[in-house]
Amino acid sequence: MTHLTARTAAVIGGGPAGLMAAEALAGGGVRVDLYDAMPSVGRKFLLAGKGGLNLTHAEPREPFLSRYGERRARIEPLLDAFGPGALREWARGLGVDTFVGSSGRVFPVGEKAAPLLRAWLHRLREAGVRFHVRHRWRGWDAEGALRFETPQGERVVRADATVLALGGGSWPQLGSDGAWLPLLAQRGVEVAPLRPANCGFDVGWSEHFRTRFAGHPVKSVVASFTDTAGAVERRQGEFVVTANGVEGSLVYALSARLRDEIAASGVAVLQLDLAPGRELPRLVDELSRPRGSRSLSSHLQSRTGLKGVKAGLLREVLAAADFADPARLAAAIKDLPLRLVAPRPLAEAISSAGGVAFEALDDRLMVRAHPGVFCAGEMLDWEAPTGGYLLTACFASGRVAGKGALAWLARRIA
Ligand SMILES: Cc1cc2nc3c(=O)[nH]c(=O)nc-3n(C[C@H](O)[C@H](O)[C@H](O)COP(=O)(O)OP(=O)(O)OC[C@H]3O[C@@H](n4cnc5c(N)ncnc54)[C@H](O)[C@@H]3O)c2cc1C
Repeated sequence: MTHLTARTAAVIGGGPAGLMAAEALAGGGVRVDLYDAMPSVGRKFLLAGKGGLNLTHAEPREPFLSRYGERRARIEPLLDAFGPGALREWARGLGVDTFVGSSGRVFPVGEKAAPLLRAWLHRLREAGVRFHVRHRWRGWDAEGALRFETPQGERVVRADATVLALGGGSWPQLGSDGAWLPLLAQRGVEVAPLRPANCGFDVGWSEHFRTRFAGHPVKSVVASFTDTAGAVERRQGEFVVTANGVEGSLVYALSARLRDEIAASGVAVLQLDLAPGRELPRLVDELSRPRGSRSLSSHLQSRTGLKGVKAGLLREVLAAADFADPARLAAAIKDLPLRLVAPRPLAEAISSAGGVAFEALDDRLMVRAHPGVFCAGEMLDWEAPTGGYLLTACFASGRVAGKGALAWLARRIA
């Protein structure tokens, strides 16, 4: 009888999804070769570690699942197989405990990715996974073998099962450049174009505003967005003024809907409440008091506390006559329209939307049109906000694809 060890699996892409698939396959006794285009694996994971490595989130199941929006039904079974709790257990198994931060976000103790990655790669090598870096996958040859570009020239590899975990298209300098998309599209796999997710937006500031305020955080504001269907989303938080527009957690949280609105109508208007907690009538009253010889700016500051970048935003958006009118100035403080004209490019985004359509895959993430080829991670067509939801679904889908490949290989032997 042929045993599974006689079977080979190629995992292409050494991010969290690919490494998780490799672990599942090696754990089932398959010989695993992992290929990555870069000189080392896990580069985006390590970069995520620079921001504290928000591994997952501790909120209850319902709100957690809702973060995946339209793809919730596709992500749910993946998280059932390997959800936030399993992920924290897994990290503990690698000697890295996790903790829940004040916002419910879960981080490894130490808030770094490197110790986790180091321990993981060690365990994978011990389990027999062989790593082949500087191997850029270029698709399949006429016989269905995998083609890689290497410093030594083209290499052609045969594998009994393949897991593609090639990432999305953000931060291409870390290895995930989305170049796989046409390779799969040409093979008849349904793919949606990659689009920026968790991204900043262009506003088109005046030279004066840009020079004074680029890099300034705008703290504790409420941003709301109403789409063409009338659905309103409101969130409190903070964002950062950039040379071109805005970025940061509050903007990222709304970015999917803002991006889609710009695609549909050319512009998205973000309404800002620069003074949450202060009522409009009170602001009108304060601003209507005599200002004597004080400038408008110092009147604004002494009556409302608004100064610096918040006052700058009011000046940037309002006409001079409105800035001088207490009622209109107060109304703008509570509801300042910021016109966003374009998302920042995919290369600058935290993550990508688009990718391999779930309809092209079976429940085990195998490409229906190409038995034996599985897909996992950010290259699948889903998106989620920051908060640990991205990594959680990447790990989960890697696990499901790896187990799926294992089951597929086992059935072929039986
Ligand atoms: C700045 C930043 C901070 C982030 N912080 C967080 C966070 O705190 N929490 C969170 O949940 N998420 C975070 N993310 C997102 C998270 O890092 C990604 O969603 C996750 O790494 C995607 O995992 P993946 O395995 O699908 O792809 P990747 O991690 O992108 O890995 C894909 C791998 O495939 C390789 N590859 C690509 N094409 C080829 C090819 N043709 N041939 C061979 N190899 C190839 C690449 O070199 C890469 O190693 C952050 C992202 C960024 C940019």
